[in-house]
Amino acid sequence: MTTPSDPHQELREGVRALCEHFPLEYFRKIDAERGYPQEFVAALTHSGWLAALIPQDYGGSGLGLTEASVIMEEINRSGGNSGVCHGQMYNMGTLLRHGSDAQKRAYLPRIASGELRLQSMGVTEPTAGSDTTKIKTFAERRGDRYIVNGQKVWISRIFHSDLMILLARTTPLAEVRKRSEGMSTFIVDLREAIGHGLTVRPIANMVNHETNELFFENLEVPAENLIGEEGKGFRYILDGLNAERALIAAECIGDGRWFIDKVTKYANDRIVFERPIGKNQGVQFPIARAHINIEAASLMRFEACRLFDNRQPCGAQANMAKLLASEASWEAANVCLQFHGGFGFASEYDVERKFRETRLYQVAPISTNMILAYTAEHVLGLPRSF
Ligand SMILES: Cc1cc2nc3c(=O)[nH]c(=O)nc-3n(C[C@H](O)[C@H](O)[C@H](O)COP(=O)(O)OP(=O)(O)OC[C@H]3O[C@@H](n4cnc5c(N)ncnc54)[C@H](O)[C@@H]3O)c2cc1C
Repeated sequence: MTTPSDPHQELREGVRALCEHFPLEYFRKIDAERGYPQEFVAALTHSGWLAALIPQDYGGSGLGLTEASVIMEEINRSGGNSGVCHGQMYNMGTLLRHGSDAQKRAYLPRIASGELRLQSMGVTEPTAGSDTTKIKTFAERRGDRYIVNGQKVWISRIFHSDLMILLARTTPLAEVRKRSEGMSTFIVDLREAIGHGLTVRPIANMVNHETNELFFENLEVPAENLIGEEGKGFRYILDGLNAERALIAAECIGDGRWFIDKVTKYANDRIVFERPIGKNQGVQFPIARAHINIEAASLMRFEACRLFDNRQPCGAQANMAKLLASEASWEAANVCLQFHGGFGFASEYDVERKFRETRLYQVAPISTNMILAYTAEHVLGLPRSF
C-alpha cells in the first residue's frame, strides 16, 4: 500500500512524474494503431529507469530487483504496459550475473545510455513448448564461431531491440547426463543477424505485443558472444527467469491497483436505482476481495525480490508471487469490467485494453500449471508428474 511510510514512496513519485506525461489517451491510441510507444520507452531509458539494475560502475543506478519491481508496478499502475520494455530489465540478469567482464564492459554502459537495447530473449520453441529442455535449436562450434540452426516462437520485441539473449543446445539431448545440461546462452546482435541467417515473422495476437517466430539458418555467432561456460546456459537462464517472474508479478500488482482504483471510483460515481452501485454489497465485496488478493500478492513479490537481492534461492517465492499476482490482477480486471457494465467494453474507458493485457500473464512467461507443478514437486516434495 502506498502510505507515507512506504519505503519506496520517493521512487514511486519519480516514476509517476514521468508516466504523467503519457496519459491513457496515449496508450489507447498506440493500442488502436498496433503501434509501439517509442517516446515513452525513450523517456524511460533517458531518465535512467530502465538501467535500474545495471551497476553504477557500468553507468546504471545499481538498484536491486525490489526497486526494479516498483518501477514496473508504477508503469502498469499509471495505465501503461511494461510489456513493451520489461525485457530490458530482466534479460540483463543473465548478462549481469554470468557475463564476462569484457562482455559487461562492451554492452552494459551502452545499454544504460540507451545506445543499445536488450529487449529480447529467445527460449520458447514450437515443438518443445513448456518442456524447455527439449529445445532443438542447435549451436555448433566451428573455430571462432557458433553456427545456429533451428526455430523459436513467441519471441518478443525483436523489432525494438538490438540484442537478444538466445538459449540453444550445444550438446544433443541424447548425449547429456541430465536433461538440463548441454544448453548454452549467447548474445545475438540482431542488427547483424536479421537477413543473414535469421528470419523474423511477426505473430498477430490478442494484445498489442510485438512478438515473432524466428527461423535460424546457419546464423553465425562469434564464440566471444557465449555467456559463461558452454553447456550451463539453462542454469543461467533460470536465474534470470526468477527475476522475470518477480517483475511480472509486480506488473500484475500495478494492473490490479489500476483496476481497483478505476472500479472504486466508478462504483462511487455511478447511480442506478437512485444509489451508487458501490453501496450494494454484491458490488463492494468482489472489489474488496480482489483488493485483498492484490495486497497479499504484493507481499510475496517483495519477499521474492528480497531473497533475489540477497542472492538467496528465490525460485519458490518468485513462482508463487507470479501465480498469486497474475490471478489477483485477473480477478481485479474481471471485477472492474463487470461493474463498469456496458462501458467496460468501450475502448475509451481503457478497461478492455488493460483486461486483455493482464490476461496474458497467466500464460506467459510461464503458465500457471507449470508453477503449480514446480511447487508440488520442488517445494512440497510430491512425485514428479512429467
Ligand atoms: C505474447 C507472448 C509473448 C511471449 N514472449 C516470449 C519471449 O519473449 N521469449 C520466449 O522465449 N517466450 C515467449 N513467450 C512464450 C511463453 O513463455 C509460452 O507461451 C509459455 O511458456 C507457454 O508455453 P506454450 O505456449 O508452448 O504452451 P504449452 O507448453 O504448449 O502448454 C499449453 C498449456 O498446457 C498446459 N500444460 C502443458 N503441459 C502440462 C502438464 N504436464 N501439466 C499441466 N498442464 C500442462 C500449460 O500450462 C499451458 O496452459 C511469449 C508468449 C506470448 C503469448
